[in-house]
Amino acid sequence: MLSPAELRRRAVALRDAPPERVVTWALAAFPGRAALTVSFGGGGVVLAHIVSRVDRSVPVLFLDTGFHFPETLAFKDAFVARYGLNLVELRPLTEVGPLYVTDPDRCCHARKVAPLERALAGFDAWISAVRADQSQTRAGTELVEYHEIDGRGIAKVFPLARWSREDVWRYIREHGVPYHPLLDRGYTSIGCWPCTRATAPGEPERAGRWSGTGKTECGLHTFTRRREP
Ligand code: SF4
Repeated sequence: MLSPAELRRRAVALRDAPPERVVTWALAAFPGRAALTVSFGGGGVVLAHIVSRVDRSVPVLFLDTGFHFPETLAFKDAFVARYGLNLVELRPLTEVGPLYVTDPDRCCHARKVAPLERALAGFDAWISAVRADQSQTRAGTELVEYHEIDGRGIAKVFPLARWSREDVWRYIREHGVPYHPLLDRGYTSIGCWPCTRATAPGEPERAGRWSGTGKTECGLHTFTRRREP
């Protein structure tokens, strides 16, 4: 694992790089130790498409929460087959029942955070499609960040950090990349069906996630501790 200072130097060098170059850099800097997480509900398909062109052996981690829309599972299977991805499906370590009504934070932790945390123990770099413009909580996202999980360093790589939603759609159109069918039916961010609704025109991209509960993140991008050099 690179030190926080070295990772910062690499991040500075990559500051104007397009997503393809950031992905290529991450896979070269952490050979066999980098993984991509994709929910198949948004911009992750862009990174999955890039990975399919750079190195199809890269593990593509998918959190099977047990509450995905049927459309998500069908789309995921079709996408993986089309691009020959090395899909790794992660499932909850324990059965906690449908906690999404009474305790969504615990539900997300059991179905998303805990399985991913365990899976990431085998990697030094985690590539994800988080963008700074998605929400206020994501506004500080950088292309490459140094984080710690239980004191162990891990590089979080966000190749789309500086892209807008329009940039994502431009890439999808230009490369003919398939996208989640619910995106044509009013959804702008897609997670588990009990916690996702379609959004109205003009609403923020993630307004349909845990709508009306005050919850804005599942915890996947907050359980690691960011460390500055
Ligand atoms: Fe549970 Fe909802 Fe979180 Fe999915 S998004 S893990 S259903 S609380």
